[in-house]
Amino acid sequence: MTAASPVPDFKPPAPPTAREVAALNRQFAGKTTPELLAWAWERFGNQAAIGTSYQGAGLVMMHLASLAGLKFPVFTLDTGLLFPETLELKRRLEEFFGLKIESLDPDLTVEEQADIHGPELWKRDPDLCCTVRKVLPLRGKLQDLACWLTGLRREQSESRADVGLVELYQLNEETGREIVKLNPMANWSRQEIWAHIKQHKIPYNPLHDQGYRSIGCVPCTRKTAEGQGERAGRWTGFKKVECGIHTFLPKKVDFQI
Ligand code: SF4
Repeated sequence: MTAASPVPDFKPPAPPTAREVAALNRQFAGKTTPELLAWAWERFGNQAAIGTSYQGAGLVMMHLASLAGLKFPVFTLDTGLLFPETLELKRRLEEFFGLKIESLDPDLTVEEQADIHGPELWKRDPDLCCTVRKVLPLRGKLQDLACWLTGLRREQSESRADVGLVELYQLNEETGREIVKLNPMANWSRQEIWAHIKQHKIPYNPLHDQGYRSIGCVPCTRKTAEGQGERAGRWTGFKKVECGIHTFLPKKVDFQI
C-alpha cells in the first residue's frame, strides 16, 4: 500500500476544538472557497492535502488553490479498476497544474482480492470491495495529515446535503487522534463547477461528455439519465450511495449550518 504508514515523528498541528469548529462554520458561511483554502494553508501548511477522484469540484478546488499559490499535496485512490480515461486525466492534470498527484494503492491487487474473496467482489459485496480498495488506503494516508480537503458538495445527494464546511473526525480511537475535514466546495452548484472548468479550460474526464456524471470504478459506474441524481449511476442495483471514504470515521462534532 502506498504511504500507508505514519511519517516518523509526524506531529500534526493541534486540531480545532469542537467549540472552535462550530465557530469556524459560522464564520466561514459567507466566505469564498479561496478564503477557506487560505485558512487551511495558514493553519496546516502542507499537512493539509487535497483528496480527489477528479470529479468536477475537485478540479475546481485544485485550480483555485493553484491560482492562490497554495501548494497543497494532492492524492487520489487508484483502485486498479479505474477507467483508462481517468488514468489519462491524472497525467493531464499533473501537466496542467505542474504537480505530482500521489496514487494510493490497495494492499491487494484485483487478482489477489479475487483469490481471497472470490471474483468480482463488487457484484456481491461492494462495501467490502470499497473497504479494501478505498477506505483502508485512505485511512493509512490520513495518518500523515492534519487536514483533508474534499470536493464534497451539498447538492450532490441526500447523503451529502448536510456536510459542514469544517468537520472534525476521530481518526484513532485509541490515541484520540483527530483530523479536520474541510469541504470548501460544499456550496457550489454543478452548473457553477462546469462553468468554471470550461472558462479556465481545466482538463476533465471525457466520459462526462458521454453521459457519465459521477465517475468511479468501471464495474460500479453507469451513465445517468436526465432528471436522475448526480450519483445515481454509482453502484446501480445496490442501496449503496457512498463508497465509505466519507462515512467510515466517527464525527466529533455534529454541526450543521
Ligand atoms: Fe469495488 Fe466498486 Fe467500490 Fe470500486 S466502487 S472499490 S469496484 S465496489
